[in-house]
Amino acid sequence: LFAGETEFLKGVVAMSGLPEADRIEVCFAGRSNVGKSTLINALTGRKALARASNTPGRTQEVNFFTLADSHYLVDLPGYGYANAPLAVVEKWQALLKRYLSGRANLRRAFVLVDTRHGIKAVDHEIMSLLDSAAVTFQVVLTKADKLRGTQLETILSQVRGELKRHPAAFPELILTSSEKGDGIPTLRATIAGLV
Ligand code: GDP
Repeated sequence: LFAGETEFLKGVVAMSGLPEADRIEVCFAGRSNVGKSTLINALTGRKALARASNTPGRTQEVNFFTLADSHYLVDLPGYGYANAPLAVVEKWQALLKRYLSGRANLRRAFVLVDTRHGIKAVDHEIMSLLDSAAVTFQVVLTKADKLRGTQLETILSQVRGELKRHPAAFPELILTSSEKGDGIPTLRATIAGLV
């Protein structure tokens, strides 16, 4: 699945722009700066693929990429910007809600969480949206190279504990470091294994 071409298809700002739901879809969500672009680039083996979604003006778009010709990979706008105007936040929440509840081909959402910070209130909000939409989500811990030993174990058990309150949470965590490549094969295999 990841051996072939990954292409940027389009950035979407409204439900009317969504591509036809004719293939398996996975989406990536996370607080801004969590390492989402870096992870998507590592995952697809393309250095600047997800940069498009980080350029000003694109940050509120839902960005669609094609994986081979069988899957869509969807990069959701980063959330939790400190200075985002309320109107922007509300618009994005509305789009997100409609996207999550209306996408029949969406097999799994990956919610990225910075290993150093654990799950924050805004992450719980997104997770609750996923619970309501009954979209299975899996937590991908990013920047795992920043912690080790007991500190890492503490965060892992905290995250596992907090996920218990979310019925849509997939129990297994994926620990990744885009910098070192750790966890990337596991994430690829997870996506490839979705049917
Ligand atoms: P985004 O806003 O979620 O798309 O975050 P970026 O992918 O732009 O990454 C934010 C910052 O975290 C950048 O400075 C990256 O270099 C850094 N970063 C991303 N992934 C890793 C990682 O696996 N390890 C470390 N140490 N830093 C990372």
